[in-house]
Amino acid sequence: MSYCVNCGVELDASHKSCPLCNTPVINPKQLEQLIAVPPFPSEKGQVELVKRKDAALLLSVVLLSTAVTCGLLNVFVYKASLWSLSIIGACCVLWVFMIPLVIYTKLSAYASLLLDGVVVCAYLFMLTWLTKQNTWFWGIALPITILVTVLAEIMTFLLRRFRFSFLVTATVSFAEIAVLCVGIELVLNRYLHQRFFLSWSGIVLTICSIITIALITILSKKRLRNAVRRRLHF
Ligand SMILES: [Zn+2]
Repeated sequence: MSYCVNCGVELDASHKSCPLCNTPVINPKQLEQLIAVPPFPSEKGQVELVKRKDAALLLSVVLLSTAVTCGLLNVFVYKASLWSLSIIGACCVLWVFMIPLVIYTKLSAYASLLLDGVVVCAYLFMLTWLTKQNTWFWGIALPITILVTVLAEIMTFLLRRFRFSFLVTATVSFAEIAVLCVGIELVLNRYLHQRFFLSWSGIVLTICSIITIALITILSKKRLRNAVRRRLHF
């Protein structure tokens, strides 16, 4: 049984409008049928993910065309120096960097980091041809690249060895920042002043050591660790 929404009088199924107040009778179910296109799509729309193969192809084409264009410009237009070598080399380095991400994902993290380090060294060594001297390569570039590669390998090992968490990542990061800064300053001072000493990196080392020791203490005491996790929500 239906009633008029305006005056409440009882309505017959055949009524198109209220016999008392003339308010039109509308069946909400019929209203749905009247609207051919629903206001909202029935399915959740989702953009299709880019396939890894397609991404690899696109990135490779972009890098290759950049390298080829610069090479041709160097050969035919701006012939003064071998400037395009630095760009072509950078394209090669970027391509090697993206191998584990989009091209060959089965490559182990250690192998890909080692490969990255080797490629960066090779690229920097190639630059020594352009700068016509190589003391900076042996004195600064090579030791720092080796240091960064070794630290990246150690970080990968530690993050895999211990359960991956925010606290572990922070601890390893602070420890590695300290080692990296000390290493860079020692290498630079050896190159510029022919002797080893610390100045600014000593401050970084002190601060990072305090933070790292505090974080290791938190990590080693379960109660303390849980208290920190609860307060910082991770
Ligand atoms: Zn009515």
